[in-house]
Formats: sequence, structure tokens, C-alpha cells
Amino acid sequence: MRLARALFDQKKGNNMLKYQPVTVEKLVCTCDRCGRVMEEGLADLEWQERFIISCRCGYGSVFGDGNLVEGDFCQECIQAVLGKYL
Ligand SMILES: [Zn+2]
Repeated sequence: MRLARALFDQKKGNNMLKYQPVTVEKLVCTCDRCGRVMEEGLADLEWQERFIISCRCGYGSVFGDGNLVEGDFCQECIQAVLGKYL
């Protein structure tokens, strides 16, 4: 890897190769309670442990008939809020 980088840097001086900035998009999930950002992928294990709640409420719901209730939460917040019931 270092040799490849050195060769690349040498050629860069010849104006044959150039560095270009790139934009990388990441899929993330933000906890609605604490604001923790969880990134998709194996590097962030929190991604796999997140909770996603999505519910279309019906007649008699405390959230209102027909309303959509959604939330994304990290596992620490679920444990802090619901842990004693789970
Ligand atoms: Zn959280």
C-alpha cells in the first residue's frame, strides 16, 4: 500500500494523476431520544441493535385515530425507558 502511494505521488508530480475530492453518502439512523447517530455497516454495531417503531394508530388510540407514530431509538434509550418492563 505504501509503495502504491509512493508511485502515485511520483506520478502526481507529472500531472498525469490528480487527487479529486469525493462525496461519500452514509446511511445513518439518529436516535430520537438522545441524538446518537448510528451508521450502517459492520463498523458500528449499534446499527444492528437499533429499534425502529412504526405504527398506524386505530380507533381508540391515545395517539389519535389514523395517525402514524414512528421513532428510531438506540438500545441504551430503550433499556433506560423500557428496561424494567422487558
Ligand atoms: Zn438513544
